[in-house]
Amino acid sequence: MRIQTTVNQPARVSAARASEIIPGGVNSATRAIGEPWMFVSAHGANVVDVEGREYVDYHAAFGAILLGHADERVTTAVEEASRRLGLVGLGITELELQLAELVVDAIPSAEMVISTMSGSESVLQAVRLARGATGRRYIVKFQGCFHGSFDAVARNVISAPTRAYGWDPNSTGILDDALNHTLIAEFNDLASVQEIFDQRGDEIAAVIIEPVPHNVGALLPDQAFLQGLRDLTRARGALLIFDEVITGFRHALGGYQELCGITPDLTTFGKAMGNGFPVAGLAGSREVMSNFSPAGGTVMLAGTFNGNSASTAAAIATIGVLSDPTVGFYDHVRSLGDRMRDGMRSITTDLGVPAVVTGLGSVFATYFLEGEVHGYRDLLRNDDHAYAMFHRRMTDTGFLMYPMALKRNHISLAHTAEDIDRTLEAASDVLAGMRREGEFDRERRK
Ligand code: PLP
Repeated sequence: MRIQTTVNQPARVSAARASEIIPGGVNSATRAIGEPWMFVSAHGANVVDVEGREYVDYHAAFGAILLGHADERVTTAVEEASRRLGLVGLGITELELQLAELVVDAIPSAEMVISTMSGSESVLQAVRLARGATGRRYIVKFQGCFHGSFDAVARNVISAPTRAYGWDPNSTGILDDALNHTLIAEFNDLASVQEIFDQRGDEIAAVIIEPVPHNVGALLPDQAFLQGLRDLTRARGALLIFDEVITGFRHALGGYQELCGITPDLTTFGKAMGNGFPVAGLAGSREVMSNFSPAGGTVMLAGTFNGNSASTAAAIATIGVLSDPTVGFYDHVRSLGDRMRDGMRSITTDLGVPAVVTGLGSVFATYFLEGEVHGYRDLLRNDDHAYAMFHRRMTDTGFLMYPMALKRNHISLAHTAEDIDRTLEAASDVLAGMRREGEFDRERRK
């Protein structure tokens, strides 16, 4: 299969051409996998590249696809809204109000909500709002959690052992001052947070956390840890921000907070809520959200495309499918997720591959390490080479899994039990081959 971008220019050349006019040939750094790669179509659980190779897609646009690619219910709603309303950019539309009602109904902690275009913007608004509302400067984040590209949170995600917990910005060009006001704690370790509060308690505006840190696969939270964070922040006058950009709508309509029963002050969400269309948001208590300027507060709220009809219609349609009991979205993805995790556990055990298979609902991840995994510290033992090679070989076999260490995989409504079984068969062959070739022998590889 080929696409024609300019007259007589084959598509393969176009993918390489991208590197000449787009930095690295991609529009977001982690889309680069080392060679030009161009895609031409995506439907249901499958994507097709320019060479005509079809993949069962578990990358799912880093989790933005929840129902499957090009879901008819969503694309029809987007088309209708675009033709009818587009972007007015003044006052409010009935679509924006409808989405706000749906979000306030769905998310337990949401009394008020704003729409944004991306998770990064939601986090920016959340952190600024927390600072504006409390008059404090510092925030606390966790080693391994990712909260987007905004300066204040751009540090200490997948850090090398020598930099973990220390100075590890994600980028140059950020003022040290912006990063220095973000203090780093360890996930599932309340004492590490308590220690920071002991030092800077009255200066901390907020603690921000992915309740399930999916940006390093799937660390599962201890209930007592999350409850401890809630109690500690409340006692010290700081806000608790759940960044549910991945977990929101994916694990339950009300996000992970619905499952754990803990109520944060602010919640960011995005990604899967629009099944691939750019839409995100921030929700919170009336008291905190009233600090935004349109409500008479002092924290700026701005964004030309916020609440545009196409994105808003996509979110309304997606939430409609997720909440339709006849669809049974959550049962479907949970049962396929369990099938995948159980299958991977049996395969790695039978082959004697050192692995921890983990995940939640629609998300699955396999760490190549021994022992238990609680926090980022444990992930420093992960065999990144084996992880990347396994994912690379799975992709080469037709199962798209992002070939970078500590990345998760996603199951959508469009995946079937047959997809899972075929994936497990391929995984068994790939892992057996890697074992035969000594790829799990770290000593040999040195
Ligand atoms: N927060 C979390 C937990 C994320 O995983 C991401 C993106 O991966 C973001 C925020 C940023 O979202 P976006 O890429 O839409 O700006």
